[in-house]
Amino acid sequence: ERTDYVLFCGSIIDRFEMSKKQNIDFVRQFPKGSFYVQIDRDKLTQVIDNIISNAMKYSPEGGIITIRITRRGRNIRTMIKDQGVGIPKENLPKIFNRFYRVDRARSRKLGGTGLGLAIAKEMIEAQGGEIWAESDWNRGTTIYFVLPLDRRDL
Ligand code: ATP
Ligand code: MG
Repeated sequence: ERTDYVLFCGSIIDRFEMSKKQNIDFVRQFPKGSFYVQIDRDKLTQVIDNIISNAMKYSPEGGIITIRITRRGRNIRTMIKDQGVGIPKENLPKIFNRFYRVDRARSRKLGGTGLGLAIAKEMIEAQGGEIWAESDWNRGTTIYFVLPLDRRDL
């Protein structure tokens, strides 16, 4: 469906802010005005829920999660950045594989099956987008994804 992307993301973060039990702050860096995308909202909600849940799961007390939305030409780019444990460089390419979990994270006994990011990648690519990650060990993780803007607005 044609969706106001900034509003859409805002309401997902609102929901996390209302239900969070950890001491974590969400910082929104959103553009002014509206950007429309043609997406399956239920599927994209699942994608963003997983990325934010991961960010929270691996964040320290008092951590900040920054969500930045920027237009990049014909695309809209979303960045979700945390200050958590991070992912070692050699493991980074594998986090989008099914059932992959980084060892150290697993040993912390945090729940999960290792499917969230694999599903996210499938869904983002099915909507004509791309997803990738950057991380510094012990300094945090940043997930980026881009989605094409609704062609009617180009
Ligand atoms: P599920 O999402 O199925 O409940 P999961 O969260 O373990 O399980 P993914 O979301 O696919 O699985 O993430 C894969 C792995 O990537 C995680 O187990 C974790 O090791 C690592 N990872 C993902 N996001 C982060 C993050 N923000 N910080 C640190 N490690 C992360
Ligand atoms: Mg997950």
